[in-house]
Amino acid sequence: MNKVEHIGIAVNNVKLAGEIYSKLLNTPVYKTEIVESEAVETAFLQSGPNKIELLQALNDDSAIAKFISKRGEGIHHIAFDVDDIEAEMDRLKAEGFVLLNDKPKRGADNKLVCFVHPKSANGVLIELCQGNDYPEKTKRKELTLEDELSLFQFRNKLIIPDDLLAYLKLTDEEIDAYNEDMFVFYKFSEFKSVKEEVSDYGGVPDYRKIVDILPQHQNCFVFAEYSIHLMVFAIRLYDDNSDKNEVYTICGSSYEVVANSFEEFMAIYKDDFSKLFI
Ligand code: ZN
Repeated sequence: MNKVEHIGIAVNNVKLAGEIYSKLLNTPVYKTEIVESEAVETAFLQSGPNKIELLQALNDDSAIAKFISKRGEGIHHIAFDVDDIEAEMDRLKAEGFVLLNDKPKRGADNKLVCFVHPKSANGVLIELCQGNDYPEKTKRKELTLEDELSLFQFRNKLIIPDDLLAYLKLTDEEIDAYNEDMFVFYKFSEFKSVKEEVSDYGGVPDYRKIVDILPQHQNCFVFAEYSIHLMVFAIRLYDDNSDKNEVYTICGSSYEVVANSFEEFMAIYKDDFSKLFI
């Protein structure tokens, strides 16, 4: 076996645990994944060359649910990277280890995995995994836009609706193509909450009271503006797939719902954007 590939930690709530471990290791969760074969939702963090896998059970039959009901949250398994999982499984069987599966199966990261019964390894569940995604080769993982978008949703516990998602995935040039006159559309890197974007803007108009006025302003994100903050356009996100995502025109401390989805907003914008002014 080559090295420890990751350490698996059983948790009750992978989102909350992800936040705790992000703070602990001072690095964001770089990936979340549902592994159907194990009925778990996982989140991964990388600290230097080391990887932590947080695992939450998706149902009561999941091995993680059973583990937690017996022993509580905690270290669940240690995974070792192997070059040839079948050869390693044969070797371990010959040495008398009890394997939990006869054939390698697909685990997180699309790796081939096999578990060794804790009984044969002094109480520790051992995972063998074979895959190409070795931490030392990836060093600091470059996040793709796709990763950034899932991280945004994970961190804010909010869902980006499909029409907005398609917009945020456009290239900078494609987004710039929407700009007209004094109307400027933002890229995902500029997509910020109302508070972050305008609440300290005390110019004309004065936005400093908007966070006291707009309900649950922390779920509203600015994606475009008119005439350098004369008006900004923000969309409300929800923690589930909502059939409505209100779009607001905000001007200083007043706001108005101008559309019920990003798509509807864009249709009005293309037709006659003066209809979006308040
Ligand atoms: Zn694992």
